[in-house]
Amino acid sequence: MVVNLRHLEARNIRLEGKVSAAELDIESLDEVIQVTQPLEHDLEVQQLEDGLLVQGSLLLYLECHCVRCLKPFQHRLELDGWACHLPLEGEDCVVPVNDCVDLTPYVREDILLEFPRHPLCDPECRGLPGTSIGKSQKSSGSGQTGADLSAWAELNKLKL
Ligand SMILES: [Zn+2]
Repeated sequence: MVVNLRHLEARNIRLEGKVSAAELDIESLDEVIQVTQPLEHDLEVQQLEDGLLVQGSLLLYLECHCVRCLKPFQHRLELDGWACHLPLEGEDCVVPVNDCVDLTPYVREDILLEFPRHPLCDPECRGLPGTSIGKSQKSSGSGQTGADLSAWAELNKLKL
């Protein structure tokens, strides 16, 4: 997802296609979410006075495991009407390399924000009674669910 600024001087650039999970570096960030399919994108890049405006849609299918019952399911992550402003001047501006700007890190960042924090096959999922997960919940007696534990694990990761 590279934009050549020289091409952009003449007209807007359309970027359409697929980017692999490996290129986005989002393959194995979470033990309950796997990314096996490429990200589909359809973006239009426009040059503004002080930067670039990127608008369009992003679509990615995530292979999730329910944190309560461990059932695999597919999560459709779609950002329709996604927009991103990349300043070319001032603080925190984007620095082009050989007149090119790579959009990948900005797309990656916003895609990651949309990952489910603790994926559930169904919002009402109660887990599997009688499994080790169910038993450990009962014996702990603290009322913590698997989802809560997963959320804490996420918070711990963030602190690092
Ligand atoms: Zn479930």
